[in-house]
Amino acid sequence: MANTTLMMIKPDAVENGHIGNILQKVTSAGFQIKALKLTQLAKSDAERFYAVHSERPFYPELVAFMSRGPIVAAVLEKENAVVDFRNLIGATNPVEAAEGTIRKLYATSIGENAVHGSDSDENAAIEAAFHFAGRECF
Ligand code: ATP
Ligand code: MG
Repeated sequence: MANTTLMMIKPDAVENGHIGNILQKVTSAGFQIKALKLTQLAKSDAERFYAVHSERPFYPELVAFMSRGPIVAAVLEKENAVVDFRNLIGATNPVEAAEGTIRKLYATSIGENAVHGSDSDENAAIEAAFHFAGRECF
């Protein structure tokens, strides 16, 4: 059964001109785009999105990074979407990411790592609602 995940192309990858290449890899891997937008997170939005990490030492840096410029948000559909998308993007730290993964190709550091992918079906639904109104999802 098809399910969904929430992707963000992070500010570093947008700044570096990788939107098109990343969307190409995503659709080539069999994901269907159900919602898509270029947007920018306010600092308070980034704090809310990554609230689970609020006690971590990198949280202030993460919030500043995620709100510093435009991002692309998308809802993606595929069988096994959450796990398959995390496999497509690779490890959090690009140094550890497998060859051919999006982070291996486009991330610059563990902090500025090009893309986000949901970590569970439950969070995928929460994160889709964070970014999109019902009428923006197809
Ligand atoms: P994401 O949630 O963005 O898809 P992830 O699930 O691979 O990434 P998390 O552990 O959820 O990794 O961390 C969220 C984000 O916080 C990372 O993608 C990265 O941008 C940042 N981050 C994580 N660990 C570090 C670190 N040690 N130093 C700096 N930034 C970090
Ligand atoms: Mg995560």
